[in-house]
Amino acid sequence: MKTKLDPVFLAPADLARADTILRSCVHCGFCTDGCPTYQLLGDENDSPRGRIYLIKDMFETGQVKAAQVTHLDRCLSCRNCETNCPSGVAYTDLLDIARGAIEQHQARGLTSRFGRWLLRRGLGLSGLLTAAFSLARQMGRWPGLARHLPVRLSPKRSWRSVVITQPTPQQVLLLDGCVQKAATPNVNLAVEQLLAVSGVEVVRVAKESCCGALNYHLGDHAAGLADMRRLLHTLAAAGPDAAPIVSSASGCGVTLKDYPSHFPMGDPDHELARRITARIVDVVELFGEHAIRVAPMRVAVHTPCTLSSGQQLGTNVTDVLTQAGIDVVALGPHLACCGSAGTYSVLQPQLATALQANMVTALTTHSPEVIVTANIGCQMHLGAGTDVPILHWAELLWQQHEALMSASDPKPDF
Ligand code: SF4
Ligand code: SF4
Repeated sequence: MKTKLDPVFLAPADLARADTILRSCVHCGFCTDGCPTYQLLGDENDSPRGRIYLIKDMFETGQVKAAQVTHLDRCLSCRNCETNCPSGVAYTDLLDIARGAIEQHQARGLTSRFGRWLLRRGLGLSGLLTAAFSLARQMGRWPGLARHLPVRLSPKRSWRSVVITQPTPQQVLLLDGCVQKAATPNVNLAVEQLLAVSGVEVVRVAKESCCGALNYHLGDHAAGLADMRRLLHTLAAAGPDAAPIVSSASGCGVTLKDYPSHFPMGDPDHELARRITARIVDVVELFGEHAIRVAPMRVAVHTPCTLSSGQQLGTNVTDVLTQAGIDVVALGPHLACCGSAGTYSVLQPQLATALQANMVTALTTHSPEVIVTANIGCQMHLGAGTDVPILHWAELLWQQHEALMSASDPKPDF
C-alpha cells in the first residue's frame, strides 16, 4: 500500500511505525472473513482491511472524522485478523496508534471523553474494585438480590493447603491482576494449590500495579506507558531473579508479553522490558509439565482471543483438561470473540451482547456441566449470559481434584 502521511499529525516514532505497517498491507482481504465485527455487521468499514483504509485516510489528511471513530471503536482488538494475515500486518499496533491520535486530538464529544475517563479511573482503583466485588459477593448470597446482579460471583474459598515437601522447591512469581483479584480471588488460590501439588512454590508480588492495558487500549498512551514502566520496575525488584512470572488472566498476560514493543531501542527500560517479558508465562504453559488427575465431567472450553490470537496458546487449556481426565465437549459454530474485550462490553453494549449470545450458544450446544475460560473479563461477560456455571479452568481443576481427594464432598459446589 502506498502512503503519504501527514508529518505533523503523529509523533515521529508513531509516524514511522504507522507508515511501515500501512505499507505492509497488500489489501488482499484474507483477514476479513475471521473478523467478528465484519461477520456481524457485513460492512467493509467494520473489517480489518476497511479499518486500515480509514486509519490511512486519518493519517494522510491529518483529520479525524466521526465515521472513523465509530468504526475504530467497534473493533474488539481481538487480533483474529493478525492470525489470518499472510503479510504479517501488525494491525493492533496500527489501531493503537490511531486510538492514541483520536484521544490526543480530542476528536470525541465531551460525554464520551468523560465516560472513558471515568472507566479508566474507576477500574484503576483497586481498593474500589475490591469493595464493589465484595459487596456483590455478599449480595449474591441472597437469591432476591442475586438476580439483580450483572455477574455471578463465587464465595471466597478456604481450601486445604497443600504442603510442599521438597527442600528447595521451584519458585514462580504469581501476578494477581486488578479485576481478577477483586472479582474471582479463588482463581489464584486454586493456581497456588495446583502448583504446590507439583512442588512449585508461589511468591506474590508486593505492591503489584496495573499492567497498563486499561489506559493504553483506551488511547491514553502516556498513562498506559507509565503503568507499564511502574510494573516493570516492581517485577524487577520482586525476587527470585529469573523465576517465571505467571499470569492467570490472559488479558494481562498478552499485554505483558507485548512490553518490548512499547520500550524500543534507545528507551532506558528497553533491556529491562526484554528481560522481564522473557519470563512471562500464562499459567496454562506450566501445566504441560505439572499434570493432575480429576474426576471426569463434561466441560466446554472458551478460549479467549488474548490466549489464542494474542499468545498463540489456543489449544493448551483443552490439552490440560483432557490430560486431567475431563471430557471437553465440542462447540457449535461461533464468531472469534465473545464481546468482552476489556472495556468493550461497557462501551459497545449492543455488539458485545450479540457476540456474547453467539458464543454462549456455541458453548452450550452439547450441554456441558460447566464452561471454563482463561480470562476474567470473558468469565464475567459470558457468565452474565448463561445459567451454566462458568469458571477459570484452574479453579475447576482444583475444585474437581479436591472433590476427588475428599470423598465426603463428591459434588463440587459452583
Ligand atoms: S490480510 Fe493482511 S495484507 Fe491482506 S488486507 Fe488484511 S491486513 Fe492487509
Ligand atoms: S482486531 Fe478483531 S474485531 Fe478488530 S479488525 Fe481485527 S478481527 Fe476485526
